[in-house]
Amino acid sequence: MKDSILVINCGSSSLKFAVLSNSGKNTLVEGIADRLGSPESSVTFKHEGSKNEISLADGNHNNAVTEIKKWLDKHPEIESSIVGIGHRVVHGGETFTESVLIDQNVIDGIRECAQFAPLHNPAHIKGIEVAFNLFPGLPQVAVFDTAFHQTLAPEQYLYPIPMNLYREHHFRKYGFHGTSYRYISQHLATIVKDSDKQGVLVAHLGNGASVCAINQGRSSDTSMGVTPLEGLMMGTRSGSLDPSMVTFICQAENISSDDALNILNTKSGLLGVSEISNDCRTLEEAMASGDLRAKLALDMFAARAAKFLASVSTTLDSIDHLVFTGGIGENSNYLRQTICNHLKALNINIDLTLNNNAPRGEVSNISSQNTNTNVWIIPTNEELMIALDTISLIQH
Ligand code: AMP
Repeated sequence: MKDSILVINCGSSSLKFAVLSNSGKNTLVEGIADRLGSPESSVTFKHEGSKNEISLADGNHNNAVTEIKKWLDKHPEIESSIVGIGHRVVHGGETFTESVLIDQNVIDGIRECAQFAPLHNPAHIKGIEVAFNLFPGLPQVAVFDTAFHQTLAPEQYLYPIPMNLYREHHFRKYGFHGTSYRYISQHLATIVKDSDKQGVLVAHLGNGASVCAINQGRSSDTSMGVTPLEGLMMGTRSGSLDPSMVTFICQAENISSDDALNILNTKSGLLGVSEISNDCRTLEEAMASGDLRAKLALDMFAARAAKFLASVSTTLDSIDHLVFTGGIGENSNYLRQTICNHLKALNINIDLTLNNNAPRGEVSNISSQNTNTNVWIIPTNEELMIALDTISLIQH
């Protein structure tokens, strides 16, 4: 059947892709092109239970998409079923409040938003342009990580700085992980009737981590800011700290502000505190064998996640649901329990047996009996959301 969508997620040095069919329910092939820009780059294809890796002589986004096209040429039954291409785009600024069919104006708009996503948006444009060349005639759709948060009220999205900085330079909170939050909000509404008329907190905890308050189906506050650096402590990002720290780090280490920001983006968070790894699983193993630095890093992660959940909850009338998602949110019993321990004052309580025995990769409710807030684990599915947006836009 001709109903498949090629979903492309171009990062600065990687490109993830998948072909989804049957309204996004089936994955026909998926994979990742990794270490683009280095001599070791390769593309991995997962298809019908087998995995196949191909080295890229000169790994860049262009060659990666060319390799995907070559693979599809060898699988004409899949290639001929593709009716559109959906791209994840990190930053849509104030220009893009929802997903759009891509034309030259949209490409120009994504380029204009690149000031706040200098690594990601140019990579997305490369992916879009090469896809237009290799798949002429296929409509393409852009799905923005920021779009879901365009419903924030000015008192939530503005920073308390001179307003000319906002008017002239668009410095404001944008928020990210919007595609994941939209998926969770819509999926929860299929499980709990009327949850889209209630107050929902979502913790998207992965290597990048943020939280979102969703009031009646609309984002009312979120923790990331003009870039993904603000908010929670993450795998390698510090999250929020006193802004004076940037100057202090520059002076103390005799480095530029770009280098200081690089430390806060890539050498901080779980990695910086533990001095072991940015990976939650590795740190949980280290903690289990008695490593105190790993425990401190994980406990700081939990304390900060809880603090931001409490903070964004001020935009809700009631906290009817708390949802954990993302690699850490879906899999780490320890962090879910520690975060919820910090939220007792909000009457959020989980059942430890349900939390510890939650089935992997499935929706589960882990709330205790004596709570007004339903606590859920819901695996996120951003690719599905991108495929559904693409189908809906190309049908109009
Ligand atoms: P993501 O960025 O959403 O893919 O999430 C990646 C994070 O999820 C990494 O820190 C992983 O260590 C963490 N993660 C994945 N599986 C587990 C697990 N079983 N237990 C704890 N953390 C996990």
